[in-house]
Amino acid sequence: MQSSRQMNYPPQVSHLSIPNLTTVALSALQHYLYCPRQCALIHVERVWAENFSTAEGNALHEAAHSGLGETRPGVRISRSLPVWSDAHGLRGVCDIVEIHKDGTLLPVEYKRGRPKAHRADEIQLCGQAICLEASFQRQPNSITSGFLFYGKQQRRTAVTFDAPLRALTLEIAEKVRAMIEHGQTPSASYTPKLCDRCSLIHLCQPKCMRLKRGTATWFQSQLNASITEQP
Ligand code: SF4
Repeated sequence: MQSSRQMNYPPQVSHLSIPNLTTVALSALQHYLYCPRQCALIHVERVWAENFSTAEGNALHEAAHSGLGETRPGVRISRSLPVWSDAHGLRGVCDIVEIHKDGTLLPVEYKRGRPKAHRADEIQLCGQAICLEASFQRQPNSITSGFLFYGKQQRRTAVTFDAPLRALTLEIAEKVRAMIEHGQTPSASYTPKLCDRCSLIHLCQPKCMRLKRGTATWFQSQLNASITEQP
């Protein structure tokens, strides 16, 4: 017989947003932690470009999303599951959610490459957990872990949704919301290890921005000097 928690599937909540709270896509959290300007270009200015990395990531996601949900002994696999939290103004899609017989929910997010030094992938997954708790009407903080599946490694890396990760996730969500509401795109700062992998580099032109900033700084210094020299 199904437990009452299992009977909450599919999610019961039927609307995405509440008045006065701008909804933030979970993917935006990852974009923001990678680079706030990248986040603004995608989620404020609505521009996008593909490169090899994004194409590889898309292929990985399509493989994860392909096929219907399935049932294995003791676990139901749900693919491409839309989730949201009205309270936090978040929405997104989980690549895979494992719904275990004992009611445990485990989100699994597919990523290209390997585990990163930054926490961008982890906060996206933690955002999924926060949304899953709301969508399945679970207690806050009741989903304690999930997995990132990295294409290069072909294995899962466990992520614990502890208090610092949850706090960071909600803090970034607020920063993204403020960015969207103010419609502000930060200026570029060329960082080779981030920018050279960024699919938006040709739209962003971070090296030109650096030159422009250099010109502006030079012009301002000349202006200051001329003011100082005046009798
Ligand atoms: S090119 Fe660099 S500065 Fe521009 S959006 Fe990408 S990571 Fe950010």
